[in-house]
Amino acid sequence: MKPGHPVVLVILDAFRADYLDPQDTPELFRLAAEGTHVRALATSPGFTQKTAIFTGAPPSETECFLMFHHDPEDAVFRDLGWRAPLWEGAEGLLRGLARRLDRLPGRLSRAGAIRARAAVAATLARYVRPGVTLATPGNIPRRLLGRFSTSEDKRGSTPDPGSLPVDSLFDRLRAAGFSYEYHAHPVACGPNEVVLAAARRALAAPPAEFYVFHFNQTDNEIHFTGTSRETRRAVLASVDRGAAELIQLFRARVPDATFLFLGDHGMTDVKVRIDLMRPLLGRLARAGLAAGREILYFLDSTLARFWFRNERARALVLEFLNEPPAAGHGRILSAEDLAAAGAPLDPRHGELIWAADLGVLISPCFFHVEETTAGGLLRRPIAMHGYFSDDPTTRGMAIVHGPGVPRRRVESATIYDAAPTLARLLGVESPARSRGRSWVDGP
Ligand SMILES: [Zn+2]
Repeated sequence: MKPGHPVVLVILDAFRADYLDPQDTPELFRLAAEGTHVRALATSPGFTQKTAIFTGAPPSETECFLMFHHDPEDAVFRDLGWRAPLWEGAEGLLRGLARRLDRLPGRLSRAGAIRARAAVAATLARYVRPGVTLATPGNIPRRLLGRFSTSEDKRGSTPDPGSLPVDSLFDRLRAAGFSYEYHAHPVACGPNEVVLAAARRALAAPPAEFYVFHFNQTDNEIHFTGTSRETRRAVLASVDRGAAELIQLFRARVPDATFLFLGDHGMTDVKVRIDLMRPLLGRLARAGLAAGREILYFLDSTLARFWFRNERARALVLEFLNEPPAAGHGRILSAEDLAAAGAPLDPRHGELIWAADLGVLISPCFFHVEETTAGGLLRRPIAMHGYFSDDPTTRGMAIVHGPGVPRRRVESATIYDAAPTLARLLGVESPARSRGRSWVDGP
């Protein structure tokens, strides 16, 4: 294994361990068979896998755990102020425009819709939320926007100095004088046309040591189609073709590149959907308590988090969680549960955290969005990730393929191994807090 070849990281968002298959994903299957194949990859708890990938450290060390946490001092969305209604209105218009473009026939309309969305989002970011953040405020109710902050993408894009909370692979690359082309979330990710356009831009720039790309249909689409073999097949075929085209683009210009394809987490079909919001607000109103004053709450698809002003408020929530609709569908996480999963104990993430059982979805929530399709139908997530569970459906996978990479099977690994593996391939030091182990041997 000789480091020093250019390395291309391709994030396959939510590409589950068992998706790899000779019929559905022939190209990725072939690469896995020829190279080093991590067959099951345990992910980090929560929704901030990007930080885990580039620091090699768990949320307990990076404090990046869920997308949002309680921090009124540093509430990046508070600055929206009077512009909040403008932002919401513009987002509504954008969705309407995208729907209209979606009705046009063929691929052109789809690419057009994506481009229109990206253009309007960029304009909004510049004029409506100047210098605030690259993160989006999700579905957080406007009156609560000033109470929460975001963990990832708060200041600049992922590779920017100081963007990640602890030493990252990008810090190690800068220290070694290496250059990189970063085309992943939040600057660029999407379906094939977006990723391949980014790859062409990256290859037209001066040669770099490290490239990052990000296919996200496997997350975005499968949330709404579910994970059954029949419904996921078309999405997987598309991502597999995209991966093949990306490799071809590189082969022509950078023939000695090493690729790391990373399925960063899995996806689990939703079996039960529970509405916690309405009964909770009803319960609070009857008790004469005000949400936002005595109790603050945040719902993120698989978790319900609470903060309390007083003991009465805490007692009421404990009672609420012991009765339908919550009872029998989840559990309150203990300090031991959080520590065992590598999650932080900081109360900013919740003074009390209730985790939904595998396959239970909290809906509505402040995080994953329900969408309206071209036909005016409501598109709701029917598959989800972010469960406190080590069920096989929560696992991702990885493939390393390139000159000198041995043909090898790794039965199980963690997302924290990606940073040391990339560092080894690049010939730089691992990020300071990385605790994983490389999947490839040293020189
Ligand atoms: Zn997702």
